[in-house]
Amino acid sequence: MMNNERIHELVDKNFEDMTASLSELIRIPSVLDESARSGGHPFGPRMTEALDKFLEIAARLGFRTANIDNMAGYAEIGEGPLIGALAHLDVMPAGDESNWKYRPFGAETAEGRMYGRGTSDDKGPAVSALYAAYALASSGVRLNRRFRVIVGLDEESGMRCMERYKRTEEIPEMSFSPDGFFPVVNAEKGILHFEMSRRLDAAEAMGLPELADIKGGDRFNIVPDGLDVFFKRASAANLELVLMPIGADVIDTGRGILVRVRGKTAHAMEPHKGENAIQKFLGTVESLDFGPPPLHAELVKIASLFKMESDGASLGVACADDVSGPLTCNLAAISMKDGVISVRCDIRYPVTASGGELIYKLRKSAAGIGWKLGIARDSPPLFVPPESKLVQTLLEAYDTITGESAKPKSMGGGTYCKTLPNSVSFGAQFPGEEETAHQPDEYISLDSLRKMTHIYAEALCLFNE
Ligand SMILES: [Zn+2]
Repeated sequence: MMNNERIHELVDKNFEDMTASLSELIRIPSVLDESARSGGHPFGPRMTEALDKFLEIAARLGFRTANIDNMAGYAEIGEGPLIGALAHLDVMPAGDESNWKYRPFGAETAEGRMYGRGTSDDKGPAVSALYAAYALASSGVRLNRRFRVIVGLDEESGMRCMERYKRTEEIPEMSFSPDGFFPVVNAEKGILHFEMSRRLDAAEAMGLPELADIKGGDRFNIVPDGLDVFFKRASAANLELVLMPIGADVIDTGRGILVRVRGKTAHAMEPHKGENAIQKFLGTVESLDFGPPPLHAELVKIASLFKMESDGASLGVACADDVSGPLTCNLAAISMKDGVISVRCDIRYPVTASGGELIYKLRKSAAGIGWKLGIARDSPPLFVPPESKLVQTLLEAYDTITGESAKPKSMGGGTYCKTLPNSVSFGAQFPGEEETAHQPDEYISLDSLRKMTHIYAEALCLFNE
């Protein structure tokens, strides 16, 4: 069934050694710690320790290794043109440990799974790619390519690791990142983060009326599930009537009236799966009576750009393409501070759309209501054609091992592989598998770990041909 039998035998033979190496890495709590950056550890000493451990394992297997300023590193084997696998060794904090059944940094094995922070995201897949290259290299076949497993140390918090890597290190001809999804993600939407704001001038702010505070949402990439609006007034009568249909709580605090709107959170790449608390409230402001302008008037204006929709139609930016689907828009936050009212928003745009053109349209919409536009981030889309050698090779490897006949996928957003040119996300999560990254009791199924290693080994064999 497989052409490269010897190599796949070696994957199985080394499996226990691989899981032992993975446990060693899981036991190092490599959570970003910028308070401890002194002494040449930009992301903290535990992060350096994780990198050292990874490079030590790789060196033991015969790889050439490099540590890049304790921000990133790589393990390389073979000769010839360079193929990259891009993974990371930093992990999210464990959070409230009482929510874990297994120790977050214990690497405990139960029911065919290894539990612990980083098992699935992304130390498990990193080790898997390393052992796949090791199987190929130790099988006795001649290597016609260099395989380099690149590991970054702050994928979860800014990706400065890859900025640093790209400044001095060789960029692989093509790369895959085992930090996403099988079969292959070859299209990722562009991401645009912007703010719209309006400063109320002193005279206007003086008259600042009954609406004393408004605050909802936090991060760009999350659909806000709550909004608090505080009114300096005695009676809740009119508010209750208007806000009843959206199920808001209207609470008399004694010093005023607090309105609490609830929604349902979701990731900004799929805003339709959530319920946006801010948009729900804005949908009522026209009928709400909270004293004299200007604030009321400004909220009515901004509400006209964010109706109960997630396609950006009222903003004037709705668009779609066949490869990646429609643009999505998440109104992520609203706040009022020092006389400035502002909203923040996350847009995921199709791979054929242009960020510059969208910014132009947003500027026009903002100017139309007298608000200012600020761009916080424009990360361009990623698209590697399905017929490219990279995508074809990876799909062939995936199909050979799984027996499927898979098609490449499109996604709403910013995976790690966007940091390198000509790269796609390739695993390590299988379709239909429970996602436990960033959650309590994160785990990797040992069957999946074995299967992904066979897939990576098969892919490297195909690249090597
Ligand atoms: Zn990750």
